[in-house]
Amino acid sequence: MFKALVLEQEDKKTLSSIRQLTISDLPEGDVLVKVDYSSLNYKDGLAITGKGKIIREFPMVPGIDFAGTVEESASPLFTAGDKVILTGWGVGENHWGGMSEMARVKASQLVHMPKYMDARKAMIIGTAGLTAMLCVMALEDYGITPSHGPILVSGASGGVGSVSVSLLSRLGYEVVAISGREQNSDMLTSLGASKVLPREQFSEPGRPLDRQLWAGAIDTVGSQLLANILSQINYGGAVAACGLAGGFDLPTTVMPFILRNVALLGVDSVMCPLERRTLAWNRLVNLLPEDVYDQVGQEVSLEEVPELAEAITNGQVTGRVLIKLS
Ligand code: NDP
Repeated sequence: MFKALVLEQEDKKTLSSIRQLTISDLPEGDVLVKVDYSSLNYKDGLAITGKGKIIREFPMVPGIDFAGTVEESASPLFTAGDKVILTGWGVGENHWGGMSEMARVKASQLVHMPKYMDARKAMIIGTAGLTAMLCVMALEDYGITPSHGPILVSGASGGVGSVSVSLLSRLGYEVVAISGREQNSDMLTSLGASKVLPREQFSEPGRPLDRQLWAGAIDTVGSQLLANILSQINYGGAVAACGLAGGFDLPTTVMPFILRNVALLGVDSVMCPLERRTLAWNRLVNLLPEDVYDQVGQEVSLEEVPELAEAITNGQVTGRVLIKLS
């Protein structure tokens, strides 16, 4: 028997409870993993509270990422005892996920734990940290270097935002954070932000083209905030957009694109090809300083998850929430 958080639906409401399950309850897959840690991402928050249509088939075990140890493998890619990480691929959305002491998944969805990383650190990074790295890589691939000027990061106190601030700063970029929570300014400065701008400064509809202030941006918020960021990007700059914490709309104009050659780079971590994921994980290991793990991570039990799921969807969680399973 093992423990898992199980979501069910009753009268269109999503209900969560901790259940005792057996291995035969798990869905099909060629690798059985003993989960050491999972994490709470914004998408998990939407799934567990039912505020977002993330899950279409119930019962479902949430948890879009986990790190653990292979117990059994029918695939030549893994053997019992291997340390592995899973992020994305719809796990925790349409296949039982990581908020469980045991998980069974496809070998093709797992990556081997990089050298110098462990399950705890891997889940402090988690999907959010991987996405932050992919956003940084998108800006780099576009040719944006530290000499081009400062980079804005929105939703900076959150998982993707806080890791983005740290990564950009480690790579030598000047980072300016946008946050709705003034109380997190010291934390953001210690992660490497040169200054923190209040979210309200970007909340109201602005001009299609504003003053050019930033070489690039990582946006986790979307909506009006992203529109205002786009209007302030320098000629030839780019924005890596990965999130919708403020809404999925984008009330902008074509002006930044056609008059300033600004690029909007979409970033998805869920279906990101294995080669790029592996590259991103290895870069995360090398770039993130040891103290970041303590600065951005808080550890909780499975029992505490439903309350925190509500909090993350209300923008009340700072940094990364690590869930200890075994
Ligand atoms: P978090 O909740 O940890 O962070 C989101 C941050 O956005 C909050 O901490 C807050 O920062 C800010 N925020 C919250 N609500 C609002 C609001 N209404 N208006 C403006 N800002 C707000 O989430 P994650 O970091 O895990 O994820 C961030 C976003 O990225 C989510 O939308 C998520 O779905 C998306 N995402 C996308 C992925 C992909 O593959 N494309 C993968 C991972 C995440 P502050 O208080 O500092 O302003």
